[in-house]
Amino acid sequence: MITFSSPADMRAWAEQQRCAGKTIGFVPTMGALHSGHVALIADAARRADVVVVSIFVNPLQFNESTDFDSYPRPIDDDVAACSGAGVAAVFAPTAGAMYPPGFQTRVLPGPLGEVMEGPNRPGHFEGVATIVAKLLGAVRPHVAIFGQKDFQQLRIITQMATDLELGVEIIGHPIVRDPDGVAQSSRNVRLSAAERRAAIAVPHSLNAAVLAAKDTDDVEVIVSAALAVVIGEPLAKHEYTTVFDATTLEAIVTLTQAQRSFGKVRIGTAVWFGDVRLIDNRDLFPA
Ligand code: AMP
Repeated sequence: MITFSSPADMRAWAEQQRCAGKTIGFVPTMGALHSGHVALIADAARRADVVVVSIFVNPLQFNESTDFDSYPRPIDDDVAACSGAGVAAVFAPTAGAMYPPGFQTRVLPGPLGEVMEGPNRPGHFEGVATIVAKLLGAVRPHVAIFGQKDFQQLRIITQMATDLELGVEIIGHPIVRDPDGVAQSSRNVRLSAAERRAAIAVPHSLNAAVLAAKDTDDVEVIVSAALAVVIGEPLAKHEYTTVFDATTLEAIVTLTQAQRSFGKVRIGTAVWFGDVRLIDNRDLFPA
């Protein structure tokens, strides 16, 4: 496995692979790799000849400097995990290499960035779209894998790849969960033992909504079922829960029979435990 810190070196290697007729699969990450990331790497390996993983904690997408400063950065463990997963190249640039003096361009997502997480995290998706555009430019992948855990991010990146003719196929990978149902996240290591136990309220709340949706089309009733679970957990501080169209990400107020039957409806939530913010989402009408 080879590691690159300069975008130019990364791109030169990628061009060599392309010239040799190899397809490149790409998994962008912020490191602190867990088995969710490893599942994305395995997915990329099934779809391409060589896999590149980027590890970069992107300052542009953090709205709180404390969250950026406390984000875990176990780089040696991450490099070992990539090597163990059969990754061909790791791209781990410095912030200075990605945002050198004079850097000024931003990618601004459209309406997809203005709902759900958007109002709660000003500038976040602009930061995400900008760094992903840069990473795609350096890695030149044929296919890039993103987790459905960050469903809005996946939708925004898919739209960006289409709108900007980036020539890369974007794949969404299902959410990888711990045995108790909590979605794996690099931020989970920052939860205390009690908070980690309490975090089970997040997937439980989404499951309660799925159950409620069997009996009613009224989204307020469905969301209330989810809220009741989170409010019943003293360590949880609820931020939002929303039922949304999986394509437009627009909030749904009343479910139609078509939405029920053709299943492009999801429920998403953000919940705080201490100073750790967890997000999760799932299909409201699982097959
Ligand atoms: P991050 O390092 O948190 O920025 O995540 C890098 C990629 O891994 C993103 O596409 C995430 O959506 C994805 N990811 C993170 N956690 C999970 C998970 N539990 N299941 C599936 N994908 C995930």
